[in-house]
Amino acid sequence: MKRITSVLASLAIVAAAATATLGSGPALAQDKGTIGIAMPTKSSARWISDGNSMVKQFEAAGYETDLQYAEDDIPNQLAQIENMIVKGVDVLVIAAIDGTTLSNALQQAADSGIKVIAYDRLIRESPNVDYYATFDNFKVGVQQATSIVKALGLPDASGPFNIELFGGSPDDNNAYFFYNGAMSVLQPLIDEGKLVVRSGQMGMDTVGTLRWDGAVAQARMDNLLSAYYSDARVDAVLSPYDGLSIGILSSLKGVGYGSANQPMPVVSGQDAEVPSVKSILAGEQHSTIFKDTRELARVTVGMVDALLQGGKPEINDTSTYDNGVKVVPSYLLEPVAVDETNWEKVLIDSGYYTIDQIKS
Ligand code: BGC
Repeated sequence: MKRITSVLASLAIVAAAATATLGSGPALAQDKGTIGIAMPTKSSARWISDGNSMVKQFEAAGYETDLQYAEDDIPNQLAQIENMIVKGVDVLVIAAIDGTTLSNALQQAADSGIKVIAYDRLIRESPNVDYYATFDNFKVGVQQATSIVKALGLPDASGPFNIELFGGSPDDNNAYFFYNGAMSVLQPLIDEGKLVVRSGQMGMDTVGTLRWDGAVAQARMDNLLSAYYSDARVDAVLSPYDGLSIGILSSLKGVGYGSANQPMPVVSGQDAEVPSVKSILAGEQHSTIFKDTRELARVTVGMVDALLQGGKPEINDTSTYDNGVKVVPSYLLEPVAVDETNWEKVLIDSGYYTIDQIKS
């Protein structure tokens, strides 16, 4: 129905414009095509910002959009994408829930001449991924670990400091890049004995958190604290995403961390979500990583526009993202580490948030 209404609206606009300009005006928005946008979930604010920024920028560039969220349900996302293909979108922009489950649908898309852009998360095991727009995911991990290491006074301090490690969802290619980036900083300090993982739990197969679920991270932190920290302090926790950090922090609070004689460990994060920025200001979470979703939308809209208007999409990386079938040409944006020293400059001065969103 919505679709019919918008088609009718388009026709009305086309007719009105044709009468007004007698066909001599600029190309109309509705002439340029429809973009199917498949996002993973609304449970995390970043994906809502991504979706909103894309709709706004695609519309400004003259496209219609079909934006769908799948609430982290893999069959649901697949059905949404298949539907978009049947409806005949011109390009698919997909932030996959599970980067390996879309091969058949993408073959269908390719057979119908629909180009595919992997958005933020790489789509794996398919030849039918044309471009990839993302952030430098390895660098995100480096920045997370660097903020922890600095806060502990390393490498100068002798420690040893106790640290526990959390990874992202094992079905999200990014999770491995974040983890490997972080370990490129942490492993040498672990080898030197300045950092100690008391639980011994390391490696993505052990520390991954399915579907980036904060409750799962909280339960794992509860277990770690009771099994390994009844007589020792945990000094730092590597957390790859704000939603996990919130769960980890509540577990820590549950056993008394966050008071004068038992300060919070240094906890990292990612996405600069409002509750985590507030937590940083309250002295709980130590840091997060800001990834400007407006910029990712801008790069993606540029790629789509080039694809549809006969240009060449802008890329800056042709070697990093092998999806198991091919290296997908990519554009990597720069992530920015945020803590209590720079949040205002990075998040408020840039207009990403208003001060009221953070201070209320
Ligand atoms: C994104 C992160 C996000 C995570 C959980 C990853 O693929 O790159 O920004 O924190 O998914 O939504």
